[in-house]
Order: sequence, then structure tokens, then C-alpha cells
Amino acid sequence: MKKLFGVLGDPISHSMSPVMHNDLFKLYNLDAVYLPFHVTSSKLEDAIKGLKALGAAGFNVTIPHKTSIIPFLDKVEPLAAAIGAVNTVVNEDGKFVGYNTDGSGYLEGLKMSLNPFEVDKVLIIGAGGAARAIYFTLADAGIKHIDITNRSIEKAVSLIESCPYPVNSQPLKLDQVEDLLTEYDLVVQTTPIGMAPGIDKTPLSLNKVHSKTFISDIIYNPLETRFLAEAREKGCLCQNGIEMFVLQGALAFEKWTGISPDLERMRNNVLTQLGGTTC
Ligand code: NAP
Repeated sequence: MKKLFGVLGDPISHSMSPVMHNDLFKLYNLDAVYLPFHVTSSKLEDAIKGLKALGAAGFNVTIPHKTSIIPFLDKVEPLAAAIGAVNTVVNEDGKFVGYNTDGSGYLEGLKMSLNPFEVDKVLIIGAGGAARAIYFTLADAGIKHIDITNRSIEKAVSLIESCPYPVNSQPLKLDQVEDLLTEYDLVVQTTPIGMAPGIDKTPLSLNKVHSKTFISDIIYNPLETRFLAEAREKGCLCQNGIEMFVLQGALAFEKWTGISPDLERMRNNVLTQLGGTTC
């Protein structure tokens, strides 16, 4: 019988996951389908019950349900529980188990360009959901010094206070951090600033950055944000959000099927959906 997968979100029509996962099912001859499900917050519990009744094999969860889904799951793995957000659910013997592959997707994507275990000091820009997943995952992976800068400094403070992993972190104001950029081996931009249509904006000035700093921006639309373009002009190595998106999907696919999927194919699929050919 065909296995059912999908993604729950509101809105959901923009999601690139259905095309990406259905292409993999075809590639690996799997009798499965991945559908977008538009689920409003008030219908989330019913939607989970419905998916369970239908025997769905697994699904992704996106904005705004990544945190609110947790009470409706049978179990949540420890890292996702610490992050307080789930983006992947696996049907394990009839139980819905929640995972978070956003942070591990970021880390695995980063490893394609950088050895994270040679990174001493990281700066994360932003303190929202994506920042939380990346911060906890990097701390859990053993990176010892990770500072957080955010528009609302109290959110950076509370993010640092809530981290269950041993890490040395300072909350910093956005304007304060511009003079400190040379201290960091890796800067991770996690705010939506610079995302289409607001492509002329950057979260902070990179005037004082050193070319040895690796700059990553988890935005993938546009493929090169103004922040990344400025970093490249400064001679920095850069990475956009495509790798994180592809790897979070690949890790979910692996949990559902046991197959490590073809990353290059997934990457090309996403680039085609975005209308780009290079990045
Ligand atoms: P979120 O939870 O809403 O957090 C947004 C963060 O950005 C907050 O820290 C917020 O600061 C800050 N921010 C928003 N607008 C700002 C502005 N105008 N000026 C200064 N700071 C601003 O969002 P999220 O879920 O973390 O997602 C953030 C971005 O990551 C989005 O662009 C999303 O598309 C991208 N993303 C990419 C991937 C991927 O696979 N590549 C995965 C997940 C997310 P305050 O705390 O002050 O409000």
C-alpha cells in the first residue's frame, strides 16, 4: 500500500518539500507520496489525529506549528525537546515520534564547507526558532563559545539561559557586535532580514569583518543576500541557506526510509524550484 507523507503548515503552498521528496520516492522506487497539508492552528490536533488514523508513515511540520505540535506527539527525542520544536515526525510502530532536523541539517550542511570542530568562536545573529535549533545543536556538538546578538536583547538573554548544553555565551546588542566581528570564526545569520522582497537590507555592517571569518546566512531566497554579497566582497568564505534546507530534508528522508538520499539531486531540485541554476 502506498505510504503517506506530508508537510503541515499555514501557509503551505510555497513549500518546496513536496516536489523534493516526491522526486526522491521516484528515484528510489518507493511506493509513497508526500503532500502539502494546509492546517490552521485551531485544526492542528484534529490533523494529527487524522494522520494517525490514516496510518501516515511520517511528516514534516513547518511554521507556525513546530512548537505547538509537541503536546500532540507520543514522544519527542531529547534534542528536539530541548529546542522545544519539531520539524519531522516519524511513525514508529504506530507512535508519532518528533525530531528536529533543522539544527542538525545546518550542522551537516556546514560540514560541507568547514570543519566545525576547528571553530572556536561563533556569533549567531537572531534569537528566533531557527537560531534556537542551530545554537543548541552547535552547543550539543561541542562548540564551546557561541555569542548571540539580537534586536530584542532580552530574547538573546533568555535563549542563552535556556540552553541545556555546556557553552560559554554572551548576549550582545546588534550595534555593539559590529566592532567585535574579528573575534569570530563563524557568523550565522538567522533573521529574515535580506529575504525577498526586502533584499536591500542587512542585519549589521560587515565593514570590520576579517576575511578569515566564515559567513553563513540561512536565507535561500535570494540565493545570495546582500549580507552574503558584502561578506564575499570582504574575501570571506560564505554559505547560503540551501545546504541547511536540503540537509534537514535529507535527514528527515533518512529517518523515514533508511536511505541516505542523493544530496546533489536534492540541491538541484531546490535550485530549479527557486528558478536559479547556481549559488
Ligand atoms: P523567527 O522565529 O520569527 O525569528 C526571527 C528572528 O529575526 C528574531 O530573532 C527577530 O528578532 C529577528 N528579526 C526579525 N525581523 C527583524 C528586523 N526587521 N530587524 C532585526 N531583527 C529582526 O523566525 P525563524 O523561524 O527563526 O526564521 C528566520 C529565518 O530563517 C527566515 O528567513 C526563514 O526563512 C529562515 N529559515 C531557513 C531555514 C533553512 O532551511 N535554510 C530553516 C528555518 C528558517 P526579535 O527577537 O527582536 O523579534
